[in-house]
Amino acid sequence: MPETLLFHSDYDDAAAWAGALKRELPDLDIAVSTQAFDPAAVRYALVWQPPTGFFAPLANLALVTNLGAGVDALVGRADLPGVPVTRICDPEMARMMASFVLMAVLRHARDLPQLEQARRERRWHWVNPRTAGEITVGILGLGELGARAAREVAGQGFRVKGWSRSPKALTGIEALHGLGALDGFLADVEILVVMLPLTPETRHVLDARRLALLPKGAKLVNVARGPVVDEEALIAALRSGHLESATLDVFEAEPLPRESPLWEMENVLITPHLASVAIPASAAAQIAENIRRLRRGEAPLFQVEAGRGY
Ligand code: NDP
Repeated sequence: MPETLLFHSDYDDAAAWAGALKRELPDLDIAVSTQAFDPAAVRYALVWQPPTGFFAPLANLALVTNLGAGVDALVGRADLPGVPVTRICDPEMARMMASFVLMAVLRHARDLPQLEQARRERRWHWVNPRTAGEITVGILGLGELGARAAREVAGQGFRVKGWSRSPKALTGIEALHGLGALDGFLADVEILVVMLPLTPETRHVLDARRLALLPKGAKLVNVARGPVVDEEALIAALRSGHLESATLDVFEAEPLPRESPLWEMENVLITPHLASVAIPASAAAQIAENIRRLRRGEAPLFQVEAGRGY
């Protein structure tokens, strides 16, 4: 009996994913959850935020692949079947993320938020440009996406520090690890970039107390998940001027509610959760490779560890 991969996403293009996967594995049947399919034939699921109960009829499921890098919407679910769960770790996705982070870091480093404000006020506002080496960029999370972004930013000449759970050795990056090192890490960071997964440990890890540890005038870039930062505390720090400006791609509630005070804040750049996306043409190869590995009786790559939440 041919094996079926079941696709579910309310956001991604099912036809593009089916085409890319068929090119890799012509013998695989691809079903889309919005159309009729035989649940007993489903061996693999490629999903982004499937509804509760989605997995229950899939008695022969062998692999769940999260259609994205962040698994916070999947790992805590009570209805997740006891099969390996993997996520997308695609170099093209990392490249897209690194370019977004670099754009945001350069925008803050070259004082563009100040210049945009001055332009709105028809004010000729000279800011003495600083060299990149005078500016310290801190990156929270040195995983697939964070390490790539850290290298990209360091390549521009910034002093780059990174923070992770376990020790890291990355050329040109000062790497610290563990919660005990976080407060000291923040003390001299001018541009802080959040690239941590959302887990029980990282939820609100940047609270009012830790935001206050950043030097006055610091800037914050969040491209990870909104709840890693206490949004109320962030708004207060941006209002008081302790934080000069922010680039926010992710929020505690998405879409960002119309009544959020963030919309009114001229020192905040808001983008609608698009810093990076899963790209069918490049990511299909690793999904197919995992299916081949399972068929050979090998463990799939890029498995999520439910216990640590990422
Ligand atoms: P990885 O799992 O590869 O890396 C996560 C990093 O965070 C690792 O360095 C890890 O440490 C560190 N980390 C995790 N928990 C802790 C902790 N408690 N204390 C300190 N460090 C911690 O994830 P990715 O780099 O692939 O992705 C990061 C996040 O980016 C995703 O989880 C997702 O939420 C977000 N994302 C956002 C997108 C957007 O468009 N805005 C697009 C794609 C992803 P260690 O290395 O020691 O394990």
